[in-house]
Amino acid sequence: MGTEKKLGFIKMDKATLVEKINVLRKEKKAIILAHNYQIPDIQDIADFTGDSLDLATKATKTDAEVIIFCGVNFMAESAKILNPEKTVILPDANANCPMAAMVDVQSLKCKKEDYPDAEVVAYINTTADVKAISDICCTSSNGAKVVNSVKAKEVIFVPDNNLGSYIQRFIKDKKMILWQGICSTHHNIKKQELLNLKEKHPKAEIIVHPECRLEVIDISDQALSTNGMISYCKKSSSKEFIIGTEKDMCYRLKKEIPGKTFIPVESAVCINMKKNTLEKVLNSLETLEPKVELSNEIMKKAKIPLQRMMDIGRGD
Ligand code: SF4
Repeated sequence: MGTEKKLGFIKMDKATLVEKINVLRKEKKAIILAHNYQIPDIQDIADFTGDSLDLATKATKTDAEVIIFCGVNFMAESAKILNPEKTVILPDANANCPMAAMVDVQSLKCKKEDYPDAEVVAYINTTADVKAISDICCTSSNGAKVVNSVKAKEVIFVPDNNLGSYIQRFIKDKKMILWQGICSTHHNIKKQELLNLKEKHPKAEIIVHPECRLEVIDISDQALSTNGMISYCKKSSSKEFIIGTEKDMCYRLKKEIPGKTFIPVESAVCINMKKNTLEKVLNSLETLEPKVELSNEIMKKAKIPLQRMMDIGRGD
């Protein structure tokens, strides 16, 4: 039996928790979606594991009546916006993305007044109300493709300054006005840390996420979305990879590609992604709470930029 776990006053081991989750997910016609940064226990029970775009797409294709979304708030909101008739649950209501909180409606409206001809490209890591006043969304997999698709000559890009700076390298005919947000999990990955790992593993390729600083991207072999990392590492002839993103991505990579070695940056942990647990998933299935609730008006408006992005598809 696994480690003893606590749910309220009832102590349950991991095997019992998984058994109860499996019974309830059938009973409640629920699907469990998990982001690549979720803890291994959650990745192991998920029906689908993937990146933001992958999970948003899965959410539109399921017949399930309930979506248990193991990720952070903006992801569960996107699932709700795309499936307003379904019950969408974020097992820990406090699993928020600090970067998404770095842009708010009022500040974005002011920026739009400064650049009246610009279109707003919102990284999917934004709240539903910010999406509702944006023109099109993007993810780390299709950012350049999305910005290039915009007709305006000026683009306000929110909120990730690092991703925006990276995308800018692939855009020739537009001015990008970059917001000053960052994801501290990625921003804090240091160039020297990666170089030290490379010294210990000289044959390894360095693969990083485009939310990292440009100086980190510049010493890497590839900058890819998390699903892009999986496809790339599968087809690369290399056997070892240093992975510059949230460390539990290595768990997903090891599962998908068992014959290769993945070296994480140990300090790269997103505490919000770790808030969902098996106990909370079970609780969500029992109570169908905490539900994602959004007004019809916000869902209607936010769906437009999300759908425009999904029509464009992946860029990696
Ligand atoms: S890893 Fe960064 S962008 Fe992703 S949820 Fe955590 S803080 Fe937000």
